[in-house]
Amino acid sequence: MEFRIGNGYDVHALAEGLDLWLGGVKIESPIGCIAHSDGDVAIHALCDALLGALALGDIGKHFPDTSAEFKGIDSKILLGRVMNLVRSEGWELGNADITIAMQKPKLAPYIVPMRECLASVAGCTAGQISVKATTTEKLGFVGRGEGCEVYAVVLLTKQS
Ligand code: MG
Repeated sequence: MEFRIGNGYDVHALAEGLDLWLGGVKIESPIGCIAHSDGDVAIHALCDALLGALALGDIGKHFPDTSAEFKGIDSKILLGRVMNLVRSEGWELGNADITIAMQKPKLAPYIVPMRECLASVAGCTAGQISVKATTTEKLGFVGRGEGCEVYAVVLLTKQS
């Protein structure tokens, strides 16, 4: 068995009156991410981790934010395409671990729905996808509510 690990990181600024999508789930929130796509910063970090594991560049290379094709796009479509790419190279997702740093709203009620949604898009089980949420104790841009930050790590496996 061969193994690869990948690391992804993404930040989006927050503004009032925008939809907030995280992990493929719409979150009840007065603020949302400013973005070219739907702004699902958790999926973007996950995609970057998957691409990074195979040294395939980053999400901006595959889905440029200058392209009209990706304007307002549902990030689940991007994740599906990245997983197709991963599988086309003979790899499978072992597991993913995602940490979302956001001051508010509280994300606890959405953790299980996010895991189930990401698993369904990625074609794996929810047990393979961990989603964790934290605040930054009101410190920094996340703590001031100016942005949302996400870290993702993945393990890919391949039968050799
Ligand atoms: Mg992004």
